[in-house]
Amino acid sequence: MSNKRDYYEVLGISRNANESEIKKAYRKLALQYHPDKNPDDAVAEEKFKEAAEAYEILSDANKKSRYDQYGHAGMNGGGGFGGGGMNMDDIFSQFGDVFGGGFGGGRRGGGQRTIKGSNLRVKMKLTLEEIAEGVKKKIKVNKLVNAEGVTSKSCTTCNGQGRVTRMAQTFLGNMQTQTTCPTCQGAGKVIDYKPSDSDANGLKRQEEVIEIDIPAGVEEGMQLSVTGKGNAGPFNGIPGDLIVVIEEIQHDTLRREGDNIHYDAYINFADAVLGESIEIPTINGKAKIKVEPGTQSGKMLRLKGKGLPQLQGYGTGDLFVHINIWTPSKISKEEKELLEKLQKSDNFKPKLDGSEKGFFQKVKDMFQ
Ligand SMILES: [Zn+2]
Repeated sequence: MSNKRDYYEVLGISRNANESEIKKAYRKLALQYHPDKNPDDAVAEEKFKEAAEAYEILSDANKKSRYDQYGHAGMNGGGGFGGGGMNMDDIFSQFGDVFGGGFGGGRRGGGQRTIKGSNLRVKMKLTLEEIAEGVKKKIKVNKLVNAEGVTSKSCTTCNGQGRVTRMAQTFLGNMQTQTTCPTCQGAGKVIDYKPSDSDANGLKRQEEVIEIDIPAGVEEGMQLSVTGKGNAGPFNGIPGDLIVVIEEIQHDTLRREGDNIHYDAYINFADAVLGESIEIPTINGKAKIKVEPGTQSGKMLRLKGKGLPQLQGYGTGDLFVHINIWTPSKISKEEKELLEKLQKSDNFKPKLDGSEKGFFQKVKDMFQ
């Protein structure tokens, strides 16, 4: 801050220079170092900014007297400009009173901004199978597009600048501030003619089929953003994005938990005692698993890598098969007689050895 040049020195004027001499000196420097005349010249840009800052202070009676009294320290301490100096927008906004309204090309067109279209949100229902593999989906969206035949004209509120300058009262005096033009939202132009079937921005709804690439491993509630596939921006501006919100369709028998899949298998009591090979569903087809003789109800079998791929592409979850004993509610007379014999057998009285997976054991497992 202390290495800033003296403002009078910057403008090449004496301390006694009057208002019109200050303006004249600045106008000369501003034209000499204008970015349009010195493209990609950092030194010229620095001089341009330096002159603008000097003028900003010396052209304002309050700021000038403060500067005359305290020098740069007074300006920085006052918080008016800090150490940052002025940005290009500030400088160009100042041109109005230096050059009058007729200074063509003073604002490098920099105030105008391209209006971005709004984002379009769609929900996408996916099966567990689609999530496991990843899928290309075609969806029909009803989105805003630029209507044909729309013409525009320069905005009269901001004279096509996209921004409006207002005077604001600060303790340093009146200062110019700039805001986005409320009429054209910064576009610098407004609709001149639009077809009757378009909205206020010259946009209309149109159906479009968009193909979306869904990666494997997505989850309920996840949002995928497809850049530039949303609603069109007015005046052929930048289109918004298409936001795809993922919804999972519940699988009939498989339950997802993160990357893992759970399946409740039901076997009969005889299979649990004698052992049996059973068929279970997986995300990609059926699989056979072996139930060992003497399997307890509640036992959990783990099939490594039979879960879902992780979205980032690292690893795959597992499939957990939970063994439940299914109990018939209707039995024949013969079956009843057989079972009554078993019921009396000493071998069939529960002898708990800790391998059972009842509720308490499951809770205990969870905390181990
Ligand atoms: Zn405007």
